[in-house]
Parts: sequence; structure tokens; C-alpha cells
Amino acid sequence: MSWQQRIDAALKARRDTGTFRQRQPVSQGAGRWLQRGDKRWLNFSSNDYLGLSQHPAIVKAWQQGAERYGTGSGGSGHVTGYSEAHQAFEQQLAEWLGYSHALLFISGFAANQAVIAALMAKEDRIVADRLSHASLLEAANLSPAQLRRFAHNDSQQLAQLLAKPTDGLQMTVTEGIFSMDGDSAPLKAIAEVTQAANGWLMVDDAHGIGVCGEKGRGSCSAQQIKPEVLVVTFGKAFGLSGAAVLCSDSVADYLLQFARHLIYSTSMPPAQAVALSKALEIVRSDEGDQRRQTLQAHIDRFRSGARQLDLLLTESKSAIQPLIVGENARALHLAETLRAQGCWLTAIRPPTVPAGTARLRVTLTASHQSQDIDQLLEVFHANRQ
Ligand SMILES: *Cc1c(COP(=O)(O)O)cnc(C)c1O
Repeated sequence: MSWQQRIDAALKARRDTGTFRQRQPVSQGAGRWLQRGDKRWLNFSSNDYLGLSQHPAIVKAWQQGAERYGTGSGGSGHVTGYSEAHQAFEQQLAEWLGYSHALLFISGFAANQAVIAALMAKEDRIVADRLSHASLLEAANLSPAQLRRFAHNDSQQLAQLLAKPTDGLQMTVTEGIFSMDGDSAPLKAIAEVTQAANGWLMVDDAHGIGVCGEKGRGSCSAQQIKPEVLVVTFGKAFGLSGAAVLCSDSVADYLLQFARHLIYSTSMPPAQAVALSKALEIVRSDEGDQRRQTLQAHIDRFRSGARQLDLLLTESKSAIQPLIVGENARALHLAETLRAQGCWLTAIRPPTVPAGTARLRVTLTASHQSQDIDQLLEVFHANRQ
């Protein structure tokens, strides 16, 4: 088989199963409206949970950062790319979340890859929730350590897997709030069984940070645990992009020696770190509380409305409210129909989610207004089968 034949066969397989992916350029993708050209839709697809991506004070902070530092960082943090702005933001984050250290990464994907690659050795075992994000499971698959997956949110099965004999060290991996289901992990129980097995716990709180917990400190704070490694990302509630690993001083020192995604990659622009500091200031302020309250009111409104309409909801209490549809074609068709009626939703299909559970992933944000939620419910009502 030639290169061309291999690629054509893979594309054909995707087309045949209704899982072919395509991007669509937008003129505005985050915020209340999704805009393309001169058309706009109510946007129920972005992860901009607090509506901060359009916040004037954060936009201004980024502009001022660019005026002060220029556009790029000029190199890896190990050479010239670690600015005072990076350091200040790392310190603010660490203090806010109660860790001695925070290390910035350019993305959550990179942070997860880096941490798992740097920490795990051949004789070790990673025990990960079956529904963990691709960046975690792929890193675990690539690592020389053994990967075992436990049933979603099942701390008893986790305990059984951790109890199996091993010559190495063990790391439990899970998320605060799951990206495709919107439900929360039972972090307290997971931390307990991990500790009982002398393992370490790594929590990816991409969807919890900024949104839940006191002053937006996230899922771990809400459930009163402190994992050895906490990954937070800034592409969701913070309205920007990038990520940080929160850990002890010695783990930070270790990652600075061995995390290749840090060492061999240009650090984020200093102006972005300035903007992130401003975003953090807002997240932890009274304004952040108001935005979280608005979001919560939308979640409650959506769930109670959906219940009245007998829509099939999940247990999710978060801003992610999936409606499980089942077949790929049906999910795609429904997403198209809803778009034709003014609501932009994304159909999520395998392999992102298990086969037969194609879904519409509704995300609610603080930039929505209550009538937007009502409109979404009406459109669902008009199209139910
Ligand atoms: C979005 C997401 C990531 C990836 O973060 P990026 O900063 O977008 O690369 C990692 N983990 C989870 C759970 C996510 O939802």
C-alpha cells in the first residue's frame, strides 16, 4: 500500500461511518453569538463559560502587555522566554490555589503530555478514568508505564486496580469535570483510595477551574482535596489559552529538568501572561462570583425546562449539558436543524465519545441571557421525536 492509498483509505473509512471532521471558519466563535460572515447564531458550543473571552479589561491587559514586551517571548523559558510577567502570574496562581509552585505551559494538551512523559517510568502504573481526555489517555498510551483504565467515576474499581501487585509507582489520573459528559469526579473517594495505595493523584480540572468552588478555585477546592499534580487550563473559563501545572517545589524543579514540552518549546507570549493575570483577578473577584451566579441560573433554567419537555438529560450539574442522541447521522441532522433555527450546537461523535452515544454538547455561559436558554428549549421542543 502506498502513502496515498493509506491516506485515502483512512479518509474513506471516516466518510463511510459519518465521522469525517471538517472545520468551519467563523468571524466570532466565543461569546453569546457565533458569527460567520453576516449571519449569527446563539452560541451553545464554546467553552467560554464565564464569558471572559470578550472582556474589555482582559483585552486591554493583553494590548498593554504587547506594548510593554512585544509580541513573542523569543524562546524557551530555559533560554530567554521566561519573563517577569510569566513569573508574576505563576506566583499569583500558586498562591490562589494553595500550592507552592505553578508552571505555565502553552496548552493543556502539552501540560498533560509533559507531566506524564516526565514522571512515568517503565515499571510504573497509570490508573486512569476510562473517559479521561485524549491528551491524558494518549500520553499514558505513549508512556512506557502500564496503563489501566477504571470504569467512569468508579473509585472501588480504581482501588482494586491499585491493589494489584506492582514493582513501580502508581499514578491515578482523572478530571474534575468531564468534558463530554459534564459530570464531576468523586474526587474525595478517589484521593482516599489513591493515598491508601501510596499512589499519587493527578487531576485535570480544565472545565472546573474558574467555574466551581469558592471564588472559582475549581473542583479540588470544592471537594476539599489537594492532588499532588493539578492541571488547570486557560482556554475555557479564563477565556484565553495556555495551562499550568500546580505542584510542590521539588516536582516543579523536576519538571523543569525533564519536561520536554517546556524545555524545547517557545514559552507563551509575555503579553498573554499579563492578560492571564487580569483574567485571574476577575475570576477571583466579586464580578467573578456574579458571572458564576449567572451561569448557575442558566444551568438551572435549562435543566428544569428540559425536564418539562421530557428531554433526555444526563446527571451533569455543570455548564456542559449533553443531550445523548445515539446515532451519528441523527446527531448531525439534529445539529443542522437546530442551526437552521438560530442555535449553534456541535454534534460530538465517536471516537471522541463511545460508539452509539453521539450527542449534542450544549454549553451554557455567563454571556447568555435567560431568553437565549428559552429559545434553545423551544427549538429542542419543536424538533423532538
Ligand atoms: C480542553 C482540555 C484539555 C486541553 O487543553 P488545551 O489548553 O485546550 O490544550 C485538556 N484536558 C481537558 C479535560 C480538556 O477539556
